[in-house]
Amino acid sequence: MTNDTQSTETTDGFHLVIDALKLNGINTIYCVPGIPITDLTRKAQAEGMRVISFRHEQHAGNAAAGAGFLTQKPGIALTVSAPGFLNGLTALTNATTNCFPMILISGSSEREIVDLQQGDYEEMDQLAIAKPLCKAAFRVLHAQDIGVGIARAIRAAVSGRPGGVYLDLPAKLFSQTMDATAGKNSLIKVVDAAPRQLPAPDSVQRALDLLKGAKRPLILLGKGAAYAQADADIRAFVEKSGIPYLPMSMAKGLLPDTHEQSASAARSYVLAEADVVVLIGARLNWLLSHGKGKTWGGENAAKRQFVQIDIAPTEIDSNVAIAAPLIGDIGSCVGALLAGMGANWAKPPAEWLSATYERRDKNLVKMAATLALDPSPMNYQSALNVIRNAVKANPDAIVVNEGANTLDFARSIVDMYKPRKRLDVGTWGIMGIGMGFSVAAAVETGNQVIAIEGDSAFGFSGMEIETICRYNLPVCVIVFNNNGIYRGIDVNPTGGPDVAPTVFVKNARYDMMMQAFGGVGVNAATPAELQAGLEEAIRSGKPTLINAVIDETAGTESGRITSLNPQSAAKKK
Ligand code: ADP
Ligand code: MG
Repeated sequence: MTNDTQSTETTDGFHLVIDALKLNGINTIYCVPGIPITDLTRKAQAEGMRVISFRHEQHAGNAAAGAGFLTQKPGIALTVSAPGFLNGLTALTNATTNCFPMILISGSSEREIVDLQQGDYEEMDQLAIAKPLCKAAFRVLHAQDIGVGIARAIRAAVSGRPGGVYLDLPAKLFSQTMDATAGKNSLIKVVDAAPRQLPAPDSVQRALDLLKGAKRPLILLGKGAAYAQADADIRAFVEKSGIPYLPMSMAKGLLPDTHEQSASAARSYVLAEADVVVLIGARLNWLLSHGKGKTWGGENAAKRQFVQIDIAPTEIDSNVAIAAPLIGDIGSCVGALLAGMGANWAKPPAEWLSATYERRDKNLVKMAATLALDPSPMNYQSALNVIRNAVKANPDAIVVNEGANTLDFARSIVDMYKPRKRLDVGTWGIMGIGMGFSVAAAVETGNQVIAIEGDSAFGFSGMEIETICRYNLPVCVIVFNNNGIYRGIDVNPTGGPDVAPTVFVKNARYDMMMQAFGGVGVNAATPAELQAGLEEAIRSGKPTLINAVIDETAGTESGRITSLNPQSAAKKK
C-alpha cells in the first residue's frame, strides 16, 4: 500500500547518518572501523564520502579536529564502542580545549544491557563519560531522530565558541528501517550553523576610545583569529592602526611573519612594555602567563589595559580585568573597529615603534648569525634553517609541529606567510597530534604538508605513517632525532642495565619505518642532506620521512617550559 507520503522503499540508520552528513556538506569521515560501525564506513564510501581509515582512534580524532580548524566545518571522527571511544576521547577533549569544531560519533552497546550493567561486549556508558569532556553530547535511539541528532551536533560544534561534540549511536540504531521518503523528510539541512554575532556599538566605541589614548599599544593575534577566516579585515585593521602585533603560534601567517609591524622578535619587550593590548581570539591562559607577572613587566602589569575580542562572553576577566570587552565573531568585531577608526586614525607614537622595531631587528640579525652556522652534528637551528627556507619557497605548505625543543625552535625560526598554515600542540601543549593533523591538512587542502616532529612526539602517532602511505598523501615528516626526550644523554644513576627514562634507542633509523610501507625514507646527517630530501619530497609529493640526526646534547629539559617541572618550580621559590 502506498500513498503520496509513503514509498515502497525503505532506508535504515546507516543511510540516514550518511545522508544527514552529506546534506550538510560533510563529505569526509576519519575513522577506525570495527563493531558496530564497520558497515557504516563501507556504506559511506559506497555513497561517495571520503573515508580515511586510521590505525588508532586518537589520530582519527585529531584529524577531525584539524579539519574543523581548517574548514570551519565540524570534522567527523568515527569510532567503535568503549575502548575505541575512549581512544577518541582525548582528541575530542583536546579539540574542545582548543575551540576546534569536531563531532566524535561512536557506536555503542545495547542500552538495556549497559544500563543494567549486565556485561555486554564493550559495555560502557559512553554518553555520561563524554559529557563533561566536550561542548555537548547527544544520543540517538530512533532512526527518525538521526536528522535532528546530526543537526544539533553540527550546530553545537560550530556556533559560538567552537568545540567538540559527542554523538552516541547504539548498535541497534543502524539496522532500524523506516520508509525512505519519511526518512528523507526527517533530515535537517542546518541553516546558518554559525551565525554572525555583531558587537554592541557602545562596546566598539569603548575599545576605540581606549586605543586612541594608548602610548604603547600592541595587538595579539590568537588561533581564534586564524579560525575566523576574517583574514583581509584583520590585516587591514593591523595596518590601518599601525600597531605592532604578535601572533600566537597558530596565528602565525595571518600576516606574513616578515611583515614590517611584526613584533615577534621583540616579544619580551612588547609584552612587558605595552600599555594597551588588543587580544583578538587569544586567551590569557598559561601560554600568555595569565596576563600578569614578570612576562608582562611586573609593575607595569597593574597599569596595563586590555581590549579583548572574543565570541565567548565568559572568557572576559578570566585572568585579569578587561577594560574593553568586544563580544562577537572576530570578523564582525574587527570590521566594526575598522569602520569606527575613520579616515584619519593616528598611528602610535614614533618612540614606541622605533624602540620595538630596533630591538626586533637586532634580534633578527643575531638569529641570522646562529642560523648560518653549520655545526656537526646538526643542531636544531641548522636543521630548522633548511625548513625555514623551504617554507619561504613554498608558502602554501602546511606546517605541523610538535615536540619540546623542536616545537620551541621551529615556532620562532620557521616563518609563516599565509593564514592557517600552521597546526601545532595548541592550548594543552599536547603530544600526539602530529600524524593526525598531517593527514587532515593533506586531505582537506591537497597542499604539501611538512611535519616537524621531535623524536619523542613522533612516537605517539608514528604508526599512522602507514595511513599516510596508504592514501599516498603529500606529507613529509621530519623527525628531529636526538636519541631521546629533551636530550639523549641522561644516564641511569644506579649504573643498572636499564637506560634512563628519557633515553631512546641510540641512532634509531625512523626513515626505515617509512620504507616499510613503500614511502620514501631519507637519513640526513647534514643540512645539505636534509635540504635535498625535503626538496625532493615537495617536488614529488610522495610520502616521505626524513630522519634528521640532531646533536643528542642539544636541547633543554622541557624546552622553554622547564619552569613547569615541579623540581624547578620548587627551586624558584
Ligand atoms: P591562542 O592559543 O592562539 O592564543 P586561544 O585558543 O587561546 O588562542 O583563543 C582562541 C579564542 O578565540 C577563544 O577564546 C575562542 O572563544 C575565540 N574564538 C574562536 N573562534 C572565534 C570566532 N569566530 N570569533 C570570535 N572569537 C573566536
Ligand atoms: Mg591561547
